[in-house]
Amino acid sequence: MEMETKDVIERKYEIKVVWPMVLLASLIVAGILTGFYCMLFENVSGATYIWTIIVFLLGGIGIGPGAHRYFCHRSYKTSRGVKVFMIICQQISGLKSLHSWCRIHRTHHKFSDTDRDPTNINRGFFFSFVGWLLIRRTPECKAEMNRIFMDDLKADSDLVFQFKYYPILYMTITLGLPIFIPYYFWNESILIGFGMNMFRYGLNIFQQFVGNSLLHMNGRKPYDKSFSAIDNALYNIITLGEGYHNFHHAFPFDYRSNELFEFSHLASLTNLYIDVMAALGLIYDRKFAPPHMIARRVARTGDRSHILSKLNSKDNTLWGYGDPDMHPDEKRDLEHVETSEKIVNLQSITAVIKKYRI
Ligand SMILES: [Zn+2]
Ligand SMILES: [Zn+2]
Repeated sequence: MEMETKDVIERKYEIKVVWPMVLLASLIVAGILTGFYCMLFENVSGATYIWTIIVFLLGGIGIGPGAHRYFCHRSYKTSRGVKVFMIICQQISGLKSLHSWCRIHRTHHKFSDTDRDPTNINRGFFFSFVGWLLIRRTPECKAEMNRIFMDDLKADSDLVFQFKYYPILYMTITLGLPIFIPYYFWNESILIGFGMNMFRYGLNIFQQFVGNSLLHMNGRKPYDKSFSAIDNALYNIITLGEGYHNFHHAFPFDYRSNELFEFSHLASLTNLYIDVMAALGLIYDRKFAPPHMIARRVARTGDRSHILSKLNSKDNTLWGYGDPDMHPDEKRDLEHVETSEKIVNLQSITAVIKKYRI
């Protein structure tokens, strides 16, 4: 029995290194170090610093409002022009094609904290930070990634184009263009242009890696204590507003990264971008979780660190049948259930609700 368990563990976590990815990662690290060298020992112009920040923010738009909120979670609608702009921004970020990114992230949400999760935090910090990119995935993870819903993305010809020509787009838009523009317009050296672009590329990658690792480690879980995702104000600054990850895993369809409602954009550049674009009429139909849905979830599955739990300590019990904080719609549903002749044992229903926390 002991042997069987050992075999299963070894089979599950058999380490097969993907050497091309190790080579690519080494080259990126060498590029980032070149960036540090340039900032310390070369005469980097002010224009190049400003350009580097602009390219970093464009990459950020590609990751947060683009890949994450729009393409992966479909949390708002927009025009084709804005969509293409976000595809270009996501290409600047250099974090895989949108097809690959969304496939990984949708699988991560659906199977969080299991061996089917591509960045499973239970395999440790290093694995979820970068290791998952350098070794082969578990068979069960590969199977789920092949099964995950991708029809909407496969039907998008702009995304198919990016997927098909990704290596060329990576060389030109991610690596080439950010170096060429400072060289052509203000005579920056190729070495400095390269080093600064790799430095900002490293920052875009770092944002992503923090989301996969630190945001799944120890911390507050105000909305759902059953999964590893946490809320953390410090990480929120590092990730430019993606630090309320417990909220996001509880309400993945919500375009906001937190529940500050009309002030949510103050804590997140992703929200700021989406709200400004919506004010300009370029983005519409933003989805968000209404307050009563959030309050119910907090009472039902939160770790009681939410302000609502502290204010209503009497309501801190696990949500069940007939709780006072139930939404009127749910109460109406229950009245119907009570009068239905098909339902004979309400006690067992309550037990099931409590057990599975539905
Ligand atoms: Zn996550
Ligand atoms: Zn997500």
